[in-house]
Amino acid sequence: MSDPLRFFISGGLLREDKISLCGEPFHHLCHVLRVKSGAELLLLDGTGLCCLVRLEQIEAQHATARVLQRWQEPETGLSITLIQALPKGDKFDLILQKGTELGVCTFQPVQTEHAVPRPKPERLVKRNQRWQRIINEAARQSRRTVLPQLQPLQSLPEVLAQESGHLKLVLWEAGSRSLAAALPETSPVGVTLLVGPEGGFSAAEMVQITAAGFHAVHLGPRILRTETAGLAATPVLQYLYGDWHQAPANENFNQHEEML
Ligand code: SAM
Repeated sequence: MSDPLRFFISGGLLREDKISLCGEPFHHLCHVLRVKSGAELLLLDGTGLCCLVRLEQIEAQHATARVLQRWQEPETGLSITLIQALPKGDKFDLILQKGTELGVCTFQPVQTEHAVPRPKPERLVKRNQRWQRIINEAARQSRRTVLPQLQPLQSLPEVLAQESGHLKLVLWEAGSRSLAAALPETSPVGVTLLVGPEGGFSAAEMVQITAAGFHAVHLGPRILRTETAGLAATPVLQYLYGDWHQAPANENFNQHEEML
């Protein structure tokens, strides 16, 4: 059986036995992709709830789909939070796309001393919408059923004040310990990675960061671009503690026998 098209749609809708699709999902499905009635789709709410549905009726402004199967999938990878100093231009787009593919669970953009100036609020709203679309598309393409969280841009002190129970690592080219040396044998609950901007962290920031419990680690002798550093460390964590032993999901829907 070929893979059905996947869509993230608003959560509450997936609890109904008949789902009415309107707005953007309807437009994309019926006007852009020209999906016909009878087609099977996989609708996802972004928290792991999955619904295999069949499109039954297509009207001018909405379509109706009948639920064939409904099940809940857990997030299987390591909980990884990537705190990324806001980089120049559209580099954060790449970080979000590749980070989503690699299994980052939370993206936290952060404003630091040497980073680009804080964007104006109206630009930030537009950027947030674009970032969310990039995450959705990357999650759809990589078959994630749980959408990574995108946190609002915060200052470094605000981010450092947050507690998660994670192992906290700051990627620092001047760190005296390697990443490998800082990683425990048994899996931590999660890992938070903090990556600096193009200009790096200031000395004062490094004092604050380490005082907040972050271990400074280096990634070898080469200086990586800011958009490379987090994406280089993430697969190491997935390989050691995450779900890389697990093959990609086979879309055999009958394995989800338990209806919710
Ligand atoms: N301004 C710094 C310099 O010229 O020495 C380099 C900053 S680097 C382009 C941007 C960020 O990527 C750094 O703040 C750090 O978080 C991370 N990074 C780059 N290379 C790294 C390495 N070899 N080890 C650990 N982190 C690295």
